[in-house]
Amino acid sequence: MIIVWGTTEVEKRLGYAADFCPICRDLRGFESCRVGMAGHLYGVHLGSGRRVGDIRRCLTCRIAGATTPESYVSLARRPAALEELIDATFPTIRSHYARRLALERQVEADPSRLPAELRSQYIDEPFRLIAPMAEEFFSNVRIDGYMFGVGRRWLRRTIYPKLARALSPLQPNDSEIRAAIDPLKSQKAKLGRRAKVAPIMRFLALPQNEAR
Ligand SMILES: [Zn+2]
Repeated sequence: MIIVWGTTEVEKRLGYAADFCPICRDLRGFESCRVGMAGHLYGVHLGSGRRVGDIRRCLTCRIAGATTPESYVSLARRPAALEELIDATFPTIRSHYARRLALERQVEADPSRLPAELRSQYIDEPFRLIAPMAEEFFSNVRIDGYMFGVGRRWLRRTIYPKLARALSPLQPNDSEIRAAIDPLKSQKAKLGRRAKVAPIMRFLALPQNEAR
């Protein structure tokens, strides 16, 4: 008899809050989750596990990142309209992110007027935020001939639309995209090795829709 057991990440949703999303480039509703490592037996979790950290996930684009739920005055029990979430969870959000929100208005008005250093920082940012997703995905799949296709499909469905959503207001050219990918490649990050400039440019040429 083979007993299948191990440890796995378990997410527990703590509540909802408003925050700034660098992929959507605006204020958004987020879910806040505790991540634990729990034992499992035949895929059945044994409890919610040891706390390893907290994440927040944008309800619009689904990007997840580390967070400290203590930074919100409270967490809402249900998702709500943005202004309602702001009042309940992060009432100082507009002054807290004043500089970033002003720069985002500048990006919207004319991305070419952004200072060069800030522009390359803003082009790097979504790659850096998305890199952990690729790290996790490509660590969990075995890459052989078949899985190579799965990896490419996953990039097309999950990763390129997010990158395009974040980058399209900046209207980057292909050498700027290459400049963002190259450092990830030399750091041996999986996103750096897998993401390609040409499909990102193709996604950037598409009209961006809110659901991405
Ligand atoms: Zn978002």
